[in-house]
This record gives sequence, structure tokens and C-alpha cells, in this order.
Amino acid sequence: MSWDFSTDPEFQEQLDWMRDFVRREIWPLETIWRELGGYEGLREALAPLQKQVRERNLWAAHLPPKLGGQGMGQVRLGLMHEILGSSPIAPLAFGNAAPDSGNSEILALAGTPEQQERWLHPLLAGDLKSAFSMTEPHTAGSDPTQLQTRAVRDGDEWVIDGHKWFSSNGSIADFLIVMAVTDPEARPKQRASMFIVPRETAGVEVLRDVPTMEHPWEQFGAYGGHAEISYNSVRVPAEALLGAEGEGFLLAQQRLGPGRIHHCMRWLGVARRAFDMMCERATYRRAHGSLLADKQTVQNWIADSAAEMQAARLMTLHAAWVMDAQGARAASVDIALIKFYGARVLHDVVDRALQVHGSLGYSTDLPLEQMYRFARAARIYDGPDEVHRQTVARRILAGYAAPPDEVPSEHLPTRREHAREQFAHLLGALTAND
Ligand SMILES: Cc1cc2nc3c(=O)[nH]c(=O)nc-3n(C[C@H](O)[C@H](O)[C@H](O)COP(=O)(O)OP(=O)(O)OC[C@H]3O[C@@H](n4cnc5c(N)ncnc54)[C@H](O)[C@@H]3O)c2cc1C
Repeated sequence: MSWDFSTDPEFQEQLDWMRDFVRREIWPLETIWRELGGYEGLREALAPLQKQVRERNLWAAHLPPKLGGQGMGQVRLGLMHEILGSSPIAPLAFGNAAPDSGNSEILALAGTPEQQERWLHPLLAGDLKSAFSMTEPHTAGSDPTQLQTRAVRDGDEWVIDGHKWFSSNGSIADFLIVMAVTDPEARPKQRASMFIVPRETAGVEVLRDVPTMEHPWEQFGAYGGHAEISYNSVRVPAEALLGAEGEGFLLAQQRLGPGRIHHCMRWLGVARRAFDMMCERATYRRAHGSLLADKQTVQNWIADSAAEMQAARLMTLHAAWVMDAQGARAASVDIALIKFYGARVLHDVVDRALQVHGSLGYSTDLPLEQMYRFARAARIYDGPDEVHRQTVARRILAGYAAPPDEVPSEHLPTRREHAREQFAHLLGALTAND
């Protein structure tokens, strides 16, 4: 029997190092990265830090050792991501920033040796950038069996036509992993395949970076932009197919499972930082004759946030443990649970912290408004809340059946009747003694 919440001392030492390193070396960069000249300047500033991360054997820890990663397993990765999540910049310093991390996982999983040589290794070295291009503006991203982008085989080539958007980093990516329907007649989850498409390929037209809550003003070619892309008769060689034909959904699921665990742990890193700000504020801000710390509403927010973060953390680490012990399929419901629950906890904790700071919280003098915008997106990407709730509810309901004659199993009069039959001998004896 093992049921253990402890971290082995060796890995705890790594976690302690990461926590200190991220706070000391990375948090300060958050405030000046634009002054450094944006993404390129940031890359330069991060290079010596990335070297230290490599020396600690923490670079690209999500990948197997043969690809330069650490093969840590999901529980350790989860604990690591909780620390990295505290800063939007930290994953870049550790070689596991989305979407490159997920894309490298697909390439590691399904790429041929040639594909790995050409795309994966430079991606891991930080020499290339990638994007994942699946969502379309005119079909429901939450139901990807509706995808319309088509890839048609023509001799030794595939020809891709379609319209995508929200391909994060698409406008600065060197290559895109594009999901397209290759067999419209196949079963819904076997219709699509993935392709590696260099962004410079003729016919790839990056129309714009879609302005969002995150970047309300249109800008083009910035790190973290969400590109709208038109694929107009884009020709790629047969070798651009990633994995087998019809395997697109399977690969997407394999990419998303661990990715969701890492997201949830990163969200806890963000929530913890917001929580610390909330508690700090409560200790000095006075209103109506007392500190905010003495107001019951604020106390409730602090206690509720602590409880919810603890619940989300344990649920996420449990999902990671199931994945390590029994594989991704066994963890699917746990992962759906944490995806919507973790996103809500993040949202609520940041919202309370922002409220406790009043106008300061709403201003850009604090990172809370940025965290709030980040938290809002978490309820949509990688599957909206409602879809994950549906998955969980369906799986739970599969374990139930309608009771005979639709009488609830707990119906007291019916149970009493059955109990009387079951214990008739006792009841009979009692009656005889009367
Ligand atoms: C910040 C951000 C980054 C992203 N990055 C990428 C990326 O890199 N690559 C990529 O391909 N995509 C990306 N996306 C797109 C994302 O994956 C989709 O937005 C998501 O899958 C939802 O699809 P949709 O926007 O088409 O919404 P729809 O599918 O149209 O859903 C709209 C709403 O309908 C409701 N709904 C849907 N299904 C159900 C249901 N079963 N029950 C009840 N209600 C339901 C939900 O409220 C849902 O929010 C990103 C999105 C965001 C916000």
C-alpha cells in the first residue's frame, strides 16, 4: 500500500532551486521585456538563464531522455509547472513554453527520424518556432469532427485548402502543424490528419493576428499572437504527413492530455501569486475603521481561495499520478475534471485578488488585470468548460441505470417494505412478544 504526498529529497532540491531561480532571475524580466526590444531582446536575456537550466538537467523536461529531455513523468512535471506558471516568461527559460512544448511532444511521438531531425531538434534548441493550426473560424472548435480544412493527395504531394484562426504564434512560426480532413467518408474521429507545413510555403497566407482581451489592439508578428491563416492550395510533399493518415485526432488527444495537466499546474502558480497579493493587501489596507484582513468577506475569500487551490492542486497531481501509473486513457476523466475546475479556481482567485485591490487591481500597475485576462482564456482553450463538464457527466452517468419501475433506489416507503420482508422473522418475534 502506498499513498504518499511527499516529494523525494533529491527532486525537492530541484524544485527549491527552480522556485528561487524563477523569482530571482525571471520575475524581474517581466517588467522590462518590452524595453529589451520585445521577444528578440527577451531571447537574448534568457540565453544565459537557459544555460543554467540545461546544466541543472531541467531543459525540455517533458520529453524522453533520448530527445534531450528528462523523462520525468507527469507528477514531477506537474510540480515543476506549478513553479514555472508563476511567470509567463519562465516556461521559455525551461524549454517548455506552449505551443512549442506540445508540438515537440507530437513530433517526438509521431515524427519520422527525418522529421525529428529537421523540425524537432531545432525546435528543442530554440532555433525554430512552431504553431498548432486546428481551430477554424466557421466550425465549432469544441467539436473538431466538424473540421472543413481539406488535404487532398495529388501524386507525391498533399494539397491543403482551408481557413484557420487562433493558431498561437502562427505569424512568427517557422512551421505549422496543420490539422486537415484527409478522408471525409471515414468515421468522424478518423477523418483528419496532421501535416508539417513550413510557414513560407506558397499559399500560406497569414491574414492577421486576431486582437483579443490579451492584445486588444491589432498588431502583427508579435510573440503570443493568435494568427488567422488562409491555406490556399498549399502543396507539401508526402513526407509532410505527421503520423499515419487518419491519426490526427488520436495525436491531438495524446498531445492534449499531458498538456492539460501542465496548464492546470501552471494556473495554480498564477493563482498562488494572486493569492499572495490578496493576503498582503489585506494586512495593510484600512477601510471603515479596520483592516481588510478583519472583514469577514475578505477572510472568506482568503479561506475559500486556499481551500479551492488545495483541492485543484490535489486533483491535478492525482490526475498526473493516474497518467503515470495507468496511462493517458485511464486519466481522461480526471483530466477533464481538472481542466474546468482548475480554470474556474484560477479565475475566481484572481478575481477576488483584483477586487481586494480596488482600482489598483484594475490598473496595469499590478499584474492582476493581465492575470485576469489570462484566466478568462483558460476557460475556452483546450476545450471550453462545458465540453469537459459534459465528458465528466457522461462518464459518470454511464455507471448508472434507471431503477426498476422508475422508483428511486432510496425511496423510503419501498425500502421499508423490503426491509420488513428481510427482517420479517425479527418483526414477527416482536409481534409475538407483544
Ligand atoms: C488564448 C487562446 C489560444 C488558442 N490557441 C489555439 C492554438 O494554438 N491552435 C488552435 O488550433 N486553436 C487555439 N485556440 C482555439 C481554441 O482551441 C478554441 O477556441 C476552442 O476549442 C473552442 O472552439 P470555438 O472557439 O470554435 O468555440 P465553439 O466550439 O464555437 O464553442 C463556443 C461555446 O459553445 C459552448 N459549447 C460548445 N460545446 C458545448 C457543449 N457540448 N455543451 C454546452 N456548451 C457547449 C461553450 O460555451 C463554448 O465556449 C485558442 C483559443 C484561445 C482563447
